[in-house]
Amino acid sequence: MPPLCLARHTPLVSHYALCSHCWGRIDFIRPPLCDRLGLPMPYDTGGTMISAAAAANPPDYDRARAVAQFEGVMRDLVHDLKFRDRHDARRLLGRWLVEAGADLMSDADVVVPVPLPRGRLFRRRFNQSAILGQEVARLACLNLRPWRLFAPVKQDHRWVSHAPSAAKTLQEHLRFRPRD
Ligand SMILES: [Zn+2]
Repeated sequence: MPPLCLARHTPLVSHYALCSHCWGRIDFIRPPLCDRLGLPMPYDTGGTMISAAAAANPPDYDRARAVAQFEGVMRDLVHDLKFRDRHDARRLLGRWLVEAGADLMSDADVVVPVPLPRGRLFRRRFNQSAILGQEVARLACLNLRPWRLFAPVKQDHRWVSHAPSAAKTLQEHLRFRPRD
């Protein structure tokens, strides 16, 4: 199979890549960033920057990073992976995730993908977060722990799993608000 652009499926010289047209239509999130939320800041102060949004409503996590705005070509690539069973963008997305999260991964121990609720996993047959987690763990030389959030903890003398609520909390917190 000749190499094709992952988004428009036009011929290319290498596999797992985008043509320059599609690449130019991705709005990558670049520094300067809010250190907590990972959202772009208007200028660089030279030190650690916390946005007004993060100061007013501090998130439960320490730091988040994202690759790009979820729109246009980026949304198509993610939807291809999630809903159309097209996994050929995993390498490119994995590389972008490692680049965007480089400063977080330097002191990370493991990669833990956000689990899918069991019903959705059954319908979709795979967890796209686990697929990307695999790529990130491989590229960043970290251990993948897909079941970490499912590990039961002892509470009131019995073992319980917080996986469903942990997954929901993570998904809610990691959802980027659309731009104005
Ligand atoms: Zn293209």
